[in-house]
Amino acid sequence: MGDDMTKKYELETYNILSVTTYRLLEKDTGEYWYPLSSFFSKVLFRRTTPGFYRDKEEFRVHMRVIEYTNPNSSAKDKTTKTWFMNTEGMCLILKNLTLAKDTPKKMMMKQKYLAAAQNYFGVTSNNSQEFIGYQPDLSNYDVWSIMCLTRDYEIRKDTLWKRCNTCGFYYPYNKDYFNMVGKNYLANSCRQCTGRDFVCKNKNLQYIYTHNGLDLIYQYYLGDKNKILEEFNKWLSGGGI
Ligand SMILES: [Zn+2]
Repeated sequence: MGDDMTKKYELETYNILSVTTYRLLEKDTGEYWYPLSSFFSKVLFRRTTPGFYRDKEEFRVHMRVIEYTNPNSSAKDKTTKTWFMNTEGMCLILKNLTLAKDTPKKMMMKQKYLAAAQNYFGVTSNNSQEFIGYQPDLSNYDVWSIMCLTRDYEIRKDTLWKRCNTCGFYYPYNKDYFNMVGKNYLANSCRQCTGRDFVCKNKNLQYIYTHNGLDLIYQYYLGDKNKILEEFNKWLSGGGI
């Protein structure tokens, strides 16, 4: 049995953040199949009953049971017989998934992995999408935000970004951009919206900013040399340094 299936499907592994998991490539069609329960437990840290999806026509059409010999399986004979979902079905699930409340620490982890999974499948959430797992387009951000974000060397490819409840812009979900509320929680609105400024990791820019130099920084951002010089002179004569 397993051997026949192996002729039809090819096992591939892939990563979502630190989780290595697998999918099957259907050789004839080039279609990918994802093991539903295993994907849910390993990547999304939750249980699912395939029956929930199987009973819904819009999902059912994207599902099939495949028996497959998985060398990584913990089962005795390495044979897995389970429900698989194709890429289209996975996108449908991930688009509409909501997270159940949990402790702040676990929520953060789950949100991070859900965002990464959505990113992997190239879907954006139908839900409020409070969190995203990739850097948003910064072109509409205010200049000080752009200065801080583009000079924040701690931002990585897998950084989790949260949408500020007040301004609606996404910022890295950490205490540089969101105030701590008590010991474990981060506020829902960004620091700028709660009356505190972001701190730029570039010390010189931060110095200019705290010494009334936002106009100068703005000209610097726009990049017109004459105007920068003009603004710089104004800043100097205003006692900037
Ligand atoms: Zn904000």
